[in-house]
Order: sequence, then C-alpha cells, then structure tokens
Amino acid sequence: MLESGPKGSSFNKIIAPGFSDDDKRVVLGDLKESFENPPKLEGELEKTPDEEKAIELANWITSQIIRSLGLDPLEIPSQNVKVLSTVEIGDRDYGGEMEPLRQILKLERSDSGLVTLVRTIHEMLHMKSFGAFQTLPDNSSGLDFNARSGLAIKSRDGFQQFFWRLNEAITEYLTRAAYHFVAQERKEVFSQELASTEESKRDVGKVVDDNGEDVPTDDIYFATTESGDLDGKSFVYRKERQVFDLLVSKLYERLKSVFESEDDVREQFYIAYFSGNNRVLAQMVDGSFGKGTFRKIGETRTAKEFERVVDLM
Ligand SMILES: [Zn+2]
Repeated sequence: MLESGPKGSSFNKIIAPGFSDDDKRVVLGDLKESFENPPKLEGELEKTPDEEKAIELANWITSQIIRSLGLDPLEIPSQNVKVLSTVEIGDRDYGGEMEPLRQILKLERSDSGLVTLVRTIHEMLHMKSFGAFQTLPDNSSGLDFNARSGLAIKSRDGFQQFFWRLNEAITEYLTRAAYHFVAQERKEVFSQELASTEESKRDVGKVVDDNGEDVPTDDIYFATTESGDLDGKSFVYRKERQVFDLLVSKLYERLKSVFESEDDVREQFYIAYFSGNNRVLAQMVDGSFGKGTFRKIGETRTAKEFERVVDLM
C-alpha cells in the first residue's frame, strides 16, 4: 500500500485496487503537474490587488493552522485561484468551489475583501485537508474525486457519503477562527470594511436569519446597512458548528483524564481532518459512547439528524 506522503496536489492518496504502487505514484505525479500548471479559464477575471492580498492571506493563515498541528501544509499560489463573475460561476451556495480534476479553486467575485478572504479560506481548507480519489468498481470506468475530503468519506461504489456534516462543521469552524485571527493581526488591510461592518452591526442590533433564528453578532463578518436593514454575510453551517461544539464538550466530559481542555479534543478532529487518520476519532467516540456511535454520526444526512444523534449520546 502506498503510504500517503506530503501533498503535491489536493490529493494525498489513491484508492485503486489493481494499481501498483508505481502506477499510483505516476497518477499522483500527474496531479502534482496539474496543480503546478493550472489552466487559464475562459471568463477568468484578472485579479485586483485587493483580491491578490486576500488570497495570499488565506493561504498564509490556513498553512499556519496546519503547521500549528505539526503537519506539512500544501501552499496554494494565487494562480490556482480563479476569480469568476457571478454569471460564469453559476449558482453556488457558498460563492466558491474546489475543482479537483483541474486542481483549482473557483471564487465568485465580490466587492468586499472580507468576503473574498472568507470564501478563499473555506475552499483552501478543503483543498489542504486530506484528499483521496478512487477508481470505481467494475462496470463503471469512472473516477471518484471525493473518495476522501477531510473527514468526509465516500463508499467504494461512490454512491454514499459519510461525515459530510461533520466535515463542513470543521471547515467552517476553522474558517471562522482563521478570519478572526487575520482580522486582528492584519487589520490594516481591511480597516475600512472592518470599521463599517462594526458600525452597521451596532446600528442594527439583533439579527435573525431566514429561519427566524438569532445570528450571533460575531458570526457576521461583513455588513452594510441599506435603508436601516442590515445586509451582510455570516459564517455558514451554524447548526453544524453548534453540534460540533456539543460533541466536543460531551467527549471532554468523559475524557477529562486524557485531555486538558475542550480545545485539545477539538485539535484531534483537526489533525484527523488534515492527516486522514479518522481511526483516532472513532476510538475516542466509540470508546466513550459505545461501539458504532462514530459510524452513526457519519451516517447523518441533515443538520437536524446530526444534532439528534449527538444530543442522544
Ligand atoms: Zn465546504
């Protein structure tokens, strides 16, 4: 079995029965080549200096996070990030996506440097997290590029995905922490937007989302006021992040003799997210709450199901 080495692309590993280690090395080498020579896209916009800065900071902070966990980060240069118009990129919930085949990140252009920063951090985390692709069995000649993405795992037939909710919870949890760090350490870069966001938030007070739920003010990272209403962006996957917090605090309650703080428990999830070693998490969860519990978390499809399973633990 070819051990996963340092990433030369978004992929650490290939799951392909019948491939020799040499074959796998060739494929990983080709992907590294794609990563190092990303294509120019039709409709790709020339980046503004502000966009270049936001991308550079997103790469810097995400690599810092990985290094702080004792792991080697993949550095993502600006040439792998493609800025596109809203029309070109199409309807994306998040304003960005990672494209494994061409080894690029696609971003929807925003007037806001903070929005560009946050979107880039989120997508870069996906690209820097543990990645594996797989050949699909028999009668399909297809390739599945999302066999592993962070903690998310696909079944061998490529049809089912596990731990998707937990994976996005962690991605956005880290995105939020990274944003707050950059906004603090490099506030001169975004000073105007940060100041006007704070002012807008103060003016408006309480904010509720489309579902009528309160949005915590420090979840809003960019805001403007238009005729008294707050228009802005807040961190996504809020429910998933809350459930992740609950999961961590429940684990910590059981494992106080092993870990010093909830942050130490959280770190185990981050290490698995970047290194691909989910087994440590499975042992930790199943050891505390019974065999099969980790799998149950993995099987949840919606945020509500994710919440129910963790609530009942
Ligand atoms: Zn995501």
